[in-house]
Amino acid sequence: MSIEKNLIEIQQNITKAMEKAGRSKESLKIVAVSKTVSEERILETYHLGQRIFGENRVQEWDRKHRVLPADCEWHIIGRLQTNKVKYLDQHVALIHSLDRLNLLTKLDQEGKERNILWKTLLQVNVAEDEAKAGLEIEEVEDFLETAKSCSNVKIKGLMTIGALDAGPEETRGFFRKLREIRDTLIRKGIYKREDFWELSMGMSQDYLLAIEEGATMIRIGSIIFGQRNSNDESNENFLEQ
Ligand SMILES: *Cc1c(COP(=O)(O)O)cnc(C)c1O
Repeated sequence: MSIEKNLIEIQQNITKAMEKAGRSKESLKIVAVSKTVSEERILETYHLGQRIFGENRVQEWDRKHRVLPADCEWHIIGRLQTNKVKYLDQHVALIHSLDRLNLLTKLDQEGKERNILWKTLLQVNVAEDEAKAGLEIEEVEDFLETAKSCSNVKIKGLMTIGALDAGPEETRGFFRKLREIRDTLIRKGIYKREDFWELSMGMSQDYLLAIEEGATMIRIGSIIFGQRNSNDESNENFLEQ
């Protein structure tokens, strides 16, 4: 399948799901997860109109963003090691994977030193999957309280990854839970709606469910670019390099 055909099909599916959910087109962003994908194929996708790309390895992102068009919007989606933060800069539009305090502290510190305001999402492990990064639900409020004193890190919402072995209804439950957490934080006045609306959830397997449950960003890779090989796959949530 060509990237173009894939994108057309995905777009049709998205349009249907958005209509079904009564949502406006503008309320969803597609993050094309381009990890392991060559610069040539990313550029092909760019020429088909895609602008947001998600990478999970800092060095790979660094190489790619230098050669690809300047109006690509780069998102970091994988587990981020604190010693890799120094390679990131203002060309990163959003970090989806803020998942622990020492990363928050590191981002804030580097942000202050280099005058960068990082935009991030807080990763929550709603599936309580031990293999997955992310805060426990009970930790979220305390974490956000701490984050408020970190003036160089803005948290724009929440992100989650479903469990690999979950069925559709269970997965839907995880996505719904993430939305409820966001809504509760807003209702309690911890964040304002306009500052904390993003929900990054849904991958190739489950993006339509995520849209129905209110995702504002879906992160899809293999249904656009084709399967990655399993060797790359094993790294997907970890930025060890
Ligand atoms: C790889 C990855 C994706 C995309 O996965 P696909 O199944 O190829 O759509 C999304 N989110 C994260 C965090 C990833 O690591």
